[in-house]
This record gives sequence, C-alpha cells and structure tokens, in this order.
Amino acid sequence: MTNHLIDRLRTGGTDPARPFAETADGAVLTYAELERRTAHYANALLAMGLAPGDRVALQAEKSLEAVFVYLATVRAGGVFLPLNTAYTPPEVDYFLGDAEPAIFICDPAAEAVLAPIARARGVAQVVTMDANGQGTLREAAEACRSSFTDVPRGPDDLAALLYTSGTTGRSKGAMLTHENLASNAQALVEAWHFTSDDVLIHALPIFHTHGLFVAINVTLAAGSSMIFLPKFDPARILSLMGRASVLMGVPTFYVRLLKSPELTPEAAAGMRLFISGSAPLLAETHREWRARTGHAILERYGMTETGMNTSNPYEGERIAGTVGFPLPGVELRVVAPENGEVLGTGEIGMIELRGPNIFKGYWRMPEKTAAEFHDGWFVTGDLGLVGPDGYVQIVGRGKDLVITGGYNVYPKEIETEIDALEGVIESAVIGIPHPDFGEGVTAVVIARPDAALDEQAVLEALEGRLARYKLPKRVIFLDDLPRNTMGKVQKNLLREQYKGLYG
Ligand code: ATP
Ligand code: MG
Repeated sequence: MTNHLIDRLRTGGTDPARPFAETADGAVLTYAELERRTAHYANALLAMGLAPGDRVALQAEKSLEAVFVYLATVRAGGVFLPLNTAYTPPEVDYFLGDAEPAIFICDPAAEAVLAPIARARGVAQVVTMDANGQGTLREAAEACRSSFTDVPRGPDDLAALLYTSGTTGRSKGAMLTHENLASNAQALVEAWHFTSDDVLIHALPIFHTHGLFVAINVTLAAGSSMIFLPKFDPARILSLMGRASVLMGVPTFYVRLLKSPELTPEAAAGMRLFISGSAPLLAETHREWRARTGHAILERYGMTETGMNTSNPYEGERIAGTVGFPLPGVELRVVAPENGEVLGTGEIGMIELRGPNIFKGYWRMPEKTAAEFHDGWFVTGDLGLVGPDGYVQIVGRGKDLVITGGYNVYPKEIETEIDALEGVIESAVIGIPHPDFGEGVTAVVIARPDAALDEQAVLEALEGRLARYKLPKRVIFLDDLPRNTMGKVQKNLLREQYKGLYG
C-alpha cells in the first residue's frame, strides 16, 4: 500500500525545478524543495511519537511552513487538524479536548497560555511556530533527514479532521479521508482546466477547506504554482494579476477589489479565472466584476464536510446567482424536507449529495452523523433547487428558513428585493419569534451613509413586489452585518440580538 492522497497529489508530475510557491518577500520554493522540507517535518513528527491516525493540531499564522506541516502530517500517516487563528484559549481547549491530538503546534506568543491547556487535555507534545514559520518545531525538523518514505495509507484512512465554520452553531469535526481530498482535487483540476502553467494568487486563510484543500491540493495535483500571501490585500492582488492566472476568493474579496480604481480590464487581462465560494456571491457583484474586468466570476459551492460539490462551467455560461453543475463524480438531488421525497426541476427543497468527496462522518458524533445521512445521501442543510437548464441554485440554509403564519419564506428572495433598492449595500432577512405568526420576517439593512432610507421607505418599496406574508414586519438598520472569518453572515447572532423584538 502507498500513501493514497500524497500519491494522487503527485500526479502533477512536475519538473522538480519548477516553483511550487513564491512568498510575499519574493522567495521561491521549488517542488524539489517542497519534497525535502516536508520530509524534514515528517521525520520530526515521527520522532515526536506520531502514530498512524494520530491528530496533529495546528493553530498558527499562515505561512508556507504551516503548509509543510499539513503535507508532512499526511506523509507521516497522521491526521491534520488546522484551527482557526481567531479561536480564543477556551475555544482551543474545546477543540483539543474533542480531537485529542498527539501533537499541538501553537504560536510562541500563545505558548504560555496554551501549553498548559494542551497538557491538561493529554496532548503529549506541544511545539511552536510563528508567522514566519520559526519555532521549536522547525528547529526539530531541520535537525532531521531530508528524505522520507511516506507511511502507507489507504483511500479510506483519515487525512484531516476539519472543523466546520460554526456559522449555525458549534463547529463540528468533519472526518475527511485520503480519497475525499484526492478525488475532489482531481475533479477541480479537470473542471477548472488547471495545468502546470497556472499561477494561483493564494490570499485565503489555510485553516478552512477553501484555502487549504481547494487552493493547495489543486495546485499540487496540477503541478501549478502559487503566490502565497499572508492575507488578503487588495492592492497587492492588483499588482500581482499581471503575472498570475487564477484567483480564488470569498465574495468579500471581490467586493473589496471592486472599490479600487485600479481594477481595470488591462489589470485583469492576464488572468484566466476568478473563482468565488464559501458564501453567496451577490448577482450585482458578478455583474459589476464583468463590467469592470471583462471576466465572469466562476462561482462554486462547497462545504467542510464535502469539499466542492458544484461549479459553474469553465466553458459555457457562468450564471450569476447559481453555483453551476455537480462536479464530475458528484451526485446532487433535492428532496422535500418533510418526507424526503425527491423533488423535480425548479422545486425548492433540501440539497443532498453523494460521491467520493463526502466525508466519513462527524468526529465522535455517531448520532449526528446518522441524522445527517438519508438513504446513503448526505443532507447538506442547504435549501436549493435545480433549474430547467441543470444549474443549481442555493436558496439559503434550512436553519435560516423563516416560517411565518404557516408559510415558508426564503430569506434570499426578500434580500434580493431589498438589495436592489437605491442606497442599499446589503441586507439579511431573519425570522424572529413572534407571538401571532410564530416567526416575524425581519430585515436587517446596511445602507450607504448618504442614502435617504428609513424603515417606512423600505416597507413601501417592497409592497406590491412581494406577497403580503413575505413582507418584513420590521426593518432594522445597522452599519455592518456580523461576519465570521470566512466572510459568512452570522444570522444566528442577529437572531439572538433581536430575539425580543416582537415581545
Ligand atoms: P457550520 O456548519 O459550523 O454552521 P458552515 O456551514 O458555514 O458552518 P462551512 O463548511 O465552512 O461551514 O460552509 C459550508 C456552507 O457555506 C454551505 O453549507 C453553504 O451554506 C455555504 N456556501 C458555500 N459556498 C456557497 C455558495 N457559493 N453560495 C451559497 N452558499 C455557499
Ligand atoms: Mg455547515
């Protein structure tokens, strides 16, 4: 047996002298060096006692060294567990207690606080890594050999334990196998026409499926290279477009890039592809981007539990407000949440998925896992439909559906109407407990500072455009919507904040 994921990611068959990554300071790391550096770390992890299947948890700033730790963990037969850098010590405590890693890597600045927490959770080894990749782990790695024979692992063995973003509640650990990650990387290389000529601008965090598995595994599987930035910086991205070919972003990247006057057709001329995902891209952003650059953003849909599921076509029309077609090997259906019956074209229901990308289950949550599978299909929690042309549309999360006076109201429909009003930047529609209606449709609106909008004006504008039961009962104005680090709107926080609105 060989190491399934690592072998599949090597299919890029790249010339060892070719760059794998260039960092912000201009340093270039070749594929040959990647092999050596990950070998150093893999040897160090084994020396620290890592056994096959053991978790390696890492909470560290984005750096190439952290990428080496991911690949080294997989090469050494371990299970990689990245933690959001924003997690506080009590949150880290929860994740370490839940995942029970053998090794925990944290920032040296946090070591005094986190090391005792980790030890109390039974973590055998605590080592450090700072934003430059320096720390006790690197020291240990550099003392190790630069060759390594990958520990054999099969398709069904775990490669990663990735916690969900916690948008709807407490994060759940998704168990991802070698085949989950390998099959998804391969499907995306195909779907997005990645080749060894591509240069990806990498500006996403690497503790999430988007920046970690989509960006890095696709780069490896295609033998492409990436320009690896510590964070999202619009000016930097604009200056790099001339020598890159692909950008992967969350919708807020595109919204912020559009604010720069330097975003022109010329600036984007050398780029081949702009990809968006992790949260819904507003149709207006799609249109504006096309008008400003001549490129149609390619929107795709994925989850921590599944990797990527659907994508707008590379060739063929990329339709704003849709997430395109199921990827090769992925099956998607829409069922009625009440009885699980499979629905037809255009009908809104629960999106279910099947395919080699679907995770093995939630870590140590057998009941939750069983509850989220339906006849062998994974129940995503997302509501959507398949249009007559086969394009999939996400209507919103099941948990965000508003039920008012017995009627289902899909927030996105109301948000789309509100967003189209003059002076509105964006909106979030939520259901808030209401004594008469069960839930009251409630709109949270972010308006431009100079907009002459008030509650009455919004309500009047919507009247006649939406059925009465869909009309918001109240409109609340805020400066910003609460978002998590992936740019996802946290409607649960809004629901909590306004839960007493209707008494
Ligand atoms: P949690 O499951 O912990 O509440 P989360 O669902 O936000 O958090 P992720 O796995 O990071 O955690 O996100 C997956 C979700 O993101 C999907 O289920 C979907 O709701 C949303 N999503 C991803 N891509 C898109 C997209 N292109 N359009 C709309 N929604 C998207
Ligand atoms: Mg989720």
